Amino acid sequence: MGKLEDQGWDVCLCKGGMELQDRNGGLFADIVKTNKVYPVELRLVASGAGLAGWTTDSGEGESTYQELLGRLGKVAMTATARGGSGPKASLWTWHCRLGHLSFKTIVELAQEGASGLEITDIPARIPGLDACFACVAAKMVHLPHKEGRSHATEYLERVYIDIAGPMHIPSARGRLYLYVAVDDYTCAIYTRLLFLKSDVPEAFKAFRAAAENESGKQLCKVMTNNTRELSMGEMRDICERDGIKLRMTVPYHPASNGVAERAIEVLTAAARAMLHDAGLPQILWAEAFSIVTYLRNRTPTRALDGLTPFELLYSMKPDLVDLRTFGAPCTIAEPSARLKKLDDRAKFCVFVGYKYGGGGYRVWDPERGVMGRNFL
Ligand SMILES: [Zn+2]
Repeated sequence: MGKLEDQGWDVCLCKGGMELQDRNGGLFADIVKTNKVYPVELRLVASGAGLAGWTTDSGEGESTYQELLGRLGKVAMTATARGGSGPKASLWTWHCRLGHLSFKTIVELAQEGASGLEITDIPARIPGLDACFACVAAKMVHLPHKEGRSHATEYLERVYIDIAGPMHIPSARGRLYLYVAVDDYTCAIYTRLLFLKSDVPEAFKAFRAAAENESGKQLCKVMTNNTRELSMGEMRDICERDGIKLRMTVPYHPASNGVAERAIEVLTAAARAMLHDAGLPQILWAEAFSIVTYLRNRTPTRALDGLTPFELLYSMKPDLVDLRTFGAPCTIAEPSARLKKLDDRAKFCVFVGYKYGGGGYRVWDPERGVMGRNFL
C-alpha cells in the first residue's frame, strides 16, 4: 500500500474495500476485500481514458483487448478490480457505470439524493465530457432540448417510433436493426432488436402489449416517419383496426419525429463510447444499446426538468446500487460436471447487461464468443 502511495496513487480504505485514485482523481480501481486481502493485480490505466485504457507497466500505450485477455489469463481471479457495484464510487466510476453520462448530470443526481448513488470525490471543478477519451472518440454530445412542440400530458398519449439500421455488422445473435419507441410524456425509451425491417409490426405489438398491460392505459397516437415498414402495410392495418392514430412526420423537424431520431442519436453515441471504453468488439453493439436504454430510463432528462422517466412511470426513484460498468471483467463458476481435475474452476467473462425481470446479469465469454447469464 505504501508503495502505491509512493507511486502517486491515493489509497482510500472504505468498508469492505479499497479505492485507488491517481493524482488528478481521474482514475481509480474499486477493489473488494476478500479473505482479509485486496485481491487485485493492477496495470496502469491511461489517465482520463475512462478506465478502459489499460497500458503496459512501462506505460507504452494502450494494449489491445486480446493482450488484456492474455494478461488476465494469468491473473484471472483478480479480474473483479473494476467490476464491483455499490453506492459509493468515484465520479469516474459512475460516469462509466451510467453509460458515459455527463459528469454534471451525475453530480446533480447525487445531490438530489438518487438512490444507490454516492460520489466519493466530487471535484471543485466538474470535468466536461472532453475529459473522457471514450466520450471524445464516440463524439458524445449534449443535444439541445428541442422546444416548439406541444407535449403529451399522459403516458401512451403519443409515442414516437423509428428504426436504426441496418448496422454494418450483425449483433452477436444476428440482429441488424434497432427498433426505438419513445413515449412523449415520460420520455421512456423502449428498444427491441430486429433481424429484418419487416419485423417492425411484431416489435410494435410487443411494445404495445408490454406498455398497455403494465400501465392499464391505451396507446392513442403513433408518430413515425415515411419508412414503409413503420407507416404502411401491417402497421397501418393494426392502427386502423384498433383506433390508434398513425401520423407521418417530416424527418429532422423539431416538432416532428425528431424525438425518436434524437433518442437514436443519443443511444448510438453512448453505445459507441461504452464499446470504445470497454475495448469490446463491435459485434456487441446490441448489448451496448440495451444497457444504455436501461440507463437512460433511469437518468434525468432536461425535458422532464431533471426527473427520470422511471420516476414518471413508477412514481419512485430508480435504485442505482446494482449498476456495473459495461465490459467490467468478471469471473463465473464453471459447472463442475463439465470439468476435468486440472481445469480452471472459474471462467473469465465480461459484464454486458442486466436481465430484465429475471435477475442476474448477462455476461460475454470472449474466448468462446458466446453470451451467458450469471450472478456476479
Ligand atoms: Zn466517457
